[in-house]
Amino acid sequence: MSKTYTTTGLILKRRDYLENDRLFIVYSKDFGKIELLAKGTKKISSKLNSYLEPFYLIKIMAARGKGFDKLANCNLVKSYQNLRNDQSLFGFYLLNYLSEVTDGLIVGQTLKHDKFQLLLELLDLLEEKINQASQLKLLGLVNVYNFKILNLLGYQPEIKRCLNCHKGILLTKNIFDFRQGGIICEDCKKVCLIEDYILVSDGVIKLLQLAQEKSLADFISLENHFDDLKQFNQVVYKLLLINLEKPIKSVDFLNNFC
Ligand SMILES: [Zn+2]
Repeated sequence: MSKTYTTTGLILKRRDYLENDRLFIVYSKDFGKIELLAKGTKKISSKLNSYLEPFYLIKIMAARGKGFDKLANCNLVKSYQNLRNDQSLFGFYLLNYLSEVTDGLIVGQTLKHDKFQLLLELLDLLEEKINQASQLKLLGLVNVYNFKILNLLGYQPEIKRCLNCHKGILLTKNIFDFRQGGIICEDCKKVCLIEDYILVSDGVIKLLQLAQEKSLADFISLENHFDDLKQFNQVVYKLLLINLEKPIKSVDFLNNFC
């Protein structure tokens, strides 16, 4: 492995380190999640500081180190200013939500680019639609992305057939079983002992199926019922909690909006 490398990455988090330095958690295109030491960046005079804000997309030049890899240089690729400048702060909180969830779900290094590309696609769509679509719809879009990421990570709830009797889902009264991960039909619900579930409407099941099969851009162009979207967001949020095994702090802020 060479001593220096270049890649493109999104800054997820930063924290102070020693007297003058900062550590950055970066979700990179080529190496998955990496932690980079940026010497001197706690000082206002550091020339790198203007490129090192959370959720900036940057081109990175780094050197491998014994403890942390060191950030040698970087250039700004995109800063998602529409989301940052959204006066309601909803865009800012969406970025915080994405940062928290991505940091929690993406573990270690990966050579696949699919999840990283999906995140860039989502950010471009949010940046374009932040002043056009409703806040509930934008949160729905982020949760379609979150559901897709869970699927890519191997968590694929059964949403086409009943988990118990394996019959195709009739759009009647179904429940989502969080413990087993999927839909249980009305008949099986009467005979199964299910502890952790919610009743899901036909619209929510359709949204879950759509989130597995369609692109993010397809979702944004569809009309959705307000209650279905709200419940879809709740289902995905709960799935994230189960997978992350810890609370998602940024969701409290988003819930004040929609
Ligand atoms: Zn059944």
